[in-house]
Amino acid sequence: MINKTELKKSIERILKVEFMSTIKTACIEEKYYAVSKGIIEQIIDNWQKSTESYRRQKQAFYLSAEFLMGRAFGNNLINLGIYDDVRSVLDEIQIDINEIEAAEEDAGLGNGGLGRLAACFLDSCATLNLPVTGYGILYKYGIFKQKFIEGFQVEEGDSWLKDGYPWAVKKAKESVIIEFSNERVKAVPFDIPIIGHATKNINTLRLWQAEPIRAFDFQLFNDQKYNEAVEEKNKAEDISKVLYPNDSDDRGKTLRLKQQYFFVAASIKDIIKNYKMRCYKSFDDFNLYNAIQLNDTHPVVAIPELMRILVDDEKMEWQKAWEITRNTFSYTNHTILSEALEQWDCQLFKGLIPRVYEVIIKIDTQLASELKIKGYSDDKIQGMRIIEDGKIRMASLAIYGSHTTNGVAALHTDILKEKELKDWYQLYPERFQNKTNGITPRRWLALCNKELAEMITELLKSDQWIRDLSMLKELDKYSEDESVLKRFICIKNQKKQQLAEYIKAYENIEINIDSIFDIQIKRLHEYKRQLLNAFQILDLYYKLKENPHMEVPARTFIFGAKAAPGYFRAKGIIKYINEIARLINNDKSINEKIKVVFIQNYRVSYAERLFPAADVSIQISTAGKEASGTGNMKFMLNGTPTVGTYDGANVEIVEEAGDENNFIFGARMEEIEAIKDNYNPKDYYNKEPRIKRVVDTLIDGTFDDGGTGMFKELHNALLEGASWHKADNYFILRDFMEYTKVQEKVDEAYNNRLEWAKKCWKNLVNSGKFSTDRTISQYAEEIWNIKHTPILIESEERRVKSEE
Ligand SMILES: *Cc1c(COP(=O)(O)O)cnc(C)c1O
Repeated sequence: MINKTELKKSIERILKVEFMSTIKTACIEEKYYAVSKGIIEQIIDNWQKSTESYRRQKQAFYLSAEFLMGRAFGNNLINLGIYDDVRSVLDEIQIDINEIEAAEEDAGLGNGGLGRLAACFLDSCATLNLPVTGYGILYKYGIFKQKFIEGFQVEEGDSWLKDGYPWAVKKAKESVIIEFSNERVKAVPFDIPIIGHATKNINTLRLWQAEPIRAFDFQLFNDQKYNEAVEEKNKAEDISKVLYPNDSDDRGKTLRLKQQYFFVAASIKDIIKNYKMRCYKSFDDFNLYNAIQLNDTHPVVAIPELMRILVDDEKMEWQKAWEITRNTFSYTNHTILSEALEQWDCQLFKGLIPRVYEVIIKIDTQLASELKIKGYSDDKIQGMRIIEDGKIRMASLAIYGSHTTNGVAALHTDILKEKELKDWYQLYPERFQNKTNGITPRRWLALCNKELAEMITELLKSDQWIRDLSMLKELDKYSEDESVLKRFICIKNQKKQQLAEYIKAYENIEINIDSIFDIQIKRLHEYKRQLLNAFQILDLYYKLKENPHMEVPARTFIFGAKAAPGYFRAKGIIKYINEIARLINNDKSINEKIKVVFIQNYRVSYAERLFPAADVSIQISTAGKEASGTGNMKFMLNGTPTVGTYDGANVEIVEEAGDENNFIFGARMEEIEAIKDNYNPKDYYNKEPRIKRVVDTLIDGTFDDGGTGMFKELHNALLEGASWHKADNYFILRDFMEYTKVQEKVDEAYNNRLEWAKKCWKNLVNSGKFSTDRTISQYAEEIWNIKHTPILIESEERRVKSEE
C-alpha cells in the first residue's frame, strides 16, 4: 500500500530541489529519478527496522564480485504490490509509467549467469525474510555496451551512473580504510534496498566505492602541478572504476586483485564492526552469529583476511582462529573449465598485500603437514596444495578454509566429487553439498510476463504461487484443457508481438510472429556452442535452397550474446553469425521461411522481453561443461521447451518436466569421456557432405571476415586444433547431425499446435523446483543456519505490546 498523496508531493518536491524543474518541464530521466526517490521515502522506515531486527541474531553475508541487478523500478513496484497504484498516480500527473521504466539504465554489475544468480538470490532472501546482506563493488562502469558495426562487435563504456542512481544511499560515515603495501584508500558504502515480495522486510546490498583519503593536494596545486595534485584521487578511484568483462576465464591483473581485496577487506571490516556493536561477547562466538558465503573464488581472499585480523589484531591463537574462520565461510564453485580456475602469482600478491600473503603461506604449510600426517603421497599433496609453482590456487584455499563447498546443479556437484575435486572430496566428504541454482519468479515471470502471471493467478484463484512456485503443479490438471491451452497460446503470441515490435525499433529488423522463435541467449563462449547453432541454420538454409517446396514451419533464429573483448574466437563467431544473417535475410528465394537476428547488447532488461516470447530454448553446451545454466530455467518458467544436451541443470529440467516435453540430443558426458582421447572430427567432416559444406563456408569465400583471419582461425580450431587444444575440443561435429535431427522433431511437434502448447504447459507447471526461494531455503538451512525474521509492522507491534 502506498500513500498516493504523499507520493505525488514527494515527486514534485524532489523535482524541484534536485533539478529545479516541475512535472511540466522535467525530462524523463528527472522524472524517473524523482519517482524512484519518492518510493524510497515510503520504504525507508521498514528498511531501517529490518536492519535493526537482523542485528539480534545470526546473519549471513553474500560476498560477490558481481551483482547483475538489471532495472530496479518495475521489480520494486511489483514486489511492494504497488505497481497499479503508482501507475494511477503517474496517470494523474500525465507521466507514462512505461516511459519511466524504460528511462532506467540497467545496473550491469556482472557478466552473466554468476552475477545474475547473486541478484536472484538477494530477491529471495528478502522475500523469505532472511537476514542476509549482499556485499560487492559499485563499479562506475558496468558490463560494456555492445553494438555491431559491419557485423563486428564494438564495445562502449557503460556509464550507468551518469544521471545518478536513485536507489543507492551513500553512507559516508560508515566508510573504512583499506591498506595495500604502498597505498591506503577509503572504501565508501552505498546501500541499495532489496525489496522482498509481499513482505515488509527490506534487505541491503552494500556496494563499496573507492575514494582517495585525501582528494586533492593543495600544495601541489599551488605549485601549479595540476596533474600530480589529483594523482592520488585517480589512482584510488581506478579500483572501483570498471567491471572486468571476462566471463569465466580469469586474468591475473594487479588491478583485479586490488578490486578483490578492496571489497573483501571492506566487507570483513564492516561485518566485524557490526558484530562488535550487536551480540559480541568475545570472538569465540563469531561463527555463531556470522556466516559468509563466497560466490566463486573472487572473494576468497576473505579467508586469510579474517585470519589476519583474528591473529594480529584480536590476538587470538592461530588454531582457534582457524576453527572460527573455517566455521564462518562456505564456498560456491561455479565452473568445471580449468582455464577459469583462479590462480594468482605469488609475487604479485606479496607485493600488494604482504601480510595476507604470509598468512596464506602459513595456511598452506598447515595443509601440507596435515596431509603428510594422513599419509598422503608427495604427488598427491602437491596436487592439493594452495601454493604451487609460484601460484596461489584460490579454489584450494576456498575448500580448505571453509566448512562447505557446493556445486550449482546435481550433475555439476557429481563431477566435482568424482573428478575435478576428487582428492578434496575423499579428504572431506562431509564438506560437499549440491545446491541447484534457481531464478526469481518475481522478475522472470510476475514482472516480465504480466499476461501469463495474471492467467495463473486467475486459475489458482490466488497469487500465492509468486512466493511458492511449487503451486504451479496444481495447474497440471489443465494440460488437456483446450480453452486454457488456447488462452496460453494467445499470451505467447502477444509476447512474440511485443518482442517483434521491440526488435523492429532497436534492430530495425522485421520478424514474422507466426514463425517459431528459436532463441539462444547467453554469453558467447566456445563451450556454449553458438557455432553449432550457426552450422545447423546454414544447413537448413542449403536444404531449403535445394528443395524450395520443403514443408517446414517458418523459424526465426534469435541470438543474443556479448563476447569478452579479448576473446578473438568468440568475436569471430559473432561476425560469422552476422554474415549468415545477412546471407539468409537478403535471399528472397527462401521467402522468409527462415530469418536470423543477432540482437545487440543482450542484458537483463532485453532478456525480460526475450524469454517470454520464446518457442524453443536453445541449451546446447558440450555435455559436462555447463555447470548449471539459469537461462534454461527462465525459458521453462515462461512455458518453453528445451532443445538441449544432457548437461548442467538441463538434466533436472527434463527430470521435472518429462523427456517427452523436451528435446534432448547429443553425446552425454560418459560418451565424451570415452571418445575424447581418440576423437577425430575429420571422420565426421569427410563422411558427411552436409558437415563439410557448412564447415567450409568458413574458408571457401561464402563469407567475408573483413580480412581479420577470424573465420580461417575458427576452421583451423575445428579441424586441426591449436597449440593449447585438440581439434574441435567442444565436439561440435560429433553432435551436428543429431542437432539437425532433433530440430526436425521440433518442426514436427510444432505442427500440432495444441500438442505443442501442452508441452509448453508441462514445462511451466513443473518449473517450481527452479525458484531461488527453494535454493535459498536450502542455503539457509543446510549451510548458513539462519532463521526467518519477519519484521513486525506497527499494528502487530501494538498488539504484541498490549498482550505483554
Ligand atoms: C540468465 C542470464 C544469463 C545466464 O544465462 P545462461 O544461459 O545460463 O548462461 C546471462 N545473462 C543475462 C542477462 C541473464 O539474464
